[in-house]
Amino acid sequence: MMKLRNIESVITPPSPHFVGDGFRVHNFIPYKADMQRMSPFIMMDYGSKFYFPPTDKARGVGVHPHRGFETVTIAYKGKVAHHDSAGNSGVISEGDVQWMTAASGILHKEFHEENFSKTGGDFQMVQLWVNLPAKDKMSKPKYQGLTNEQINKVTLPNSEGIVEVIAGQYQGVKGSASTFTPVNVLNVKLNKGAVSNFSFPAHYNTALVVIEGSVRINETDLVPVNNFVVFQNNAEDFTVEATENAIVLVLSGEPINEPIAAQGPFVMNTRAEIIQAIQDYNMGKFGYIEE
Ligand code: MN
Repeated sequence: MMKLRNIESVITPPSPHFVGDGFRVHNFIPYKADMQRMSPFIMMDYGSKFYFPPTDKARGVGVHPHRGFETVTIAYKGKVAHHDSAGNSGVISEGDVQWMTAASGILHKEFHEENFSKTGGDFQMVQLWVNLPAKDKMSKPKYQGLTNEQINKVTLPNSEGIVEVIAGQYQGVKGSASTFTPVNVLNVKLNKGAVSNFSFPAHYNTALVVIEGSVRINETDLVPVNNFVVFQNNAEDFTVEATENAIVLVLSGEPINEPIAAQGPFVMNTRAEIIQAIQDYNMGKFGYIEE
């Protein structure tokens, strides 16, 4: 039998906190307070399914900056309306993904979409920060709004399920989002009993989140909903079996082996670059967006 990629740990969701008043999240990355361990994934907030009652005033996060990385928002339940200072805006609906390259700097705001706010409902979402290599940190901001229809998919045999290839590749199908470094982001929907295999270079940092249902990994470890699995870097392959209908978000990426200097919404390589980012932000160099 082939050597399997072992599990390093299975993490139950830490107590949630609110980002603004619209995002109730469990923070899974940085893993063990180390921003390098899961590089290029430097932050992941997971909003487990949570009911928001109706309101006339949309909940969310007001205008704030980012520099030096990309933010990736994956909507499972609910809708987010987004506006940024590069002139991009859109609604991220269930099944959609927004891949925003902040790079040299943007301002943006993220709120529950107006109609969703008025009716209320279940909200479930992932926000990932993907680091940029030093040479790309000051490149031009970019925006990839991917509707579910636009996301490339692999249909598994025998009605076992579907793999949405958000970035990277799976079974020869390329991801829909373009990335700066090798990054795989797969949304895996498995019917009960289905087993899928994944293979990434051993040195790629690899993890998954169980979004719905429950799974068994490598035929041994049962992982319930909302848990986060960090893999070792000992081998390439692992298996995921759906012990009930399940959705799993699989992340695997080549580490960016560069120093990290981070402060709030800025992630650079040196302390001097952080000070520069704060100065540029205070001088209005990130553009303008209405509150
Ligand atoms: Mn943001």
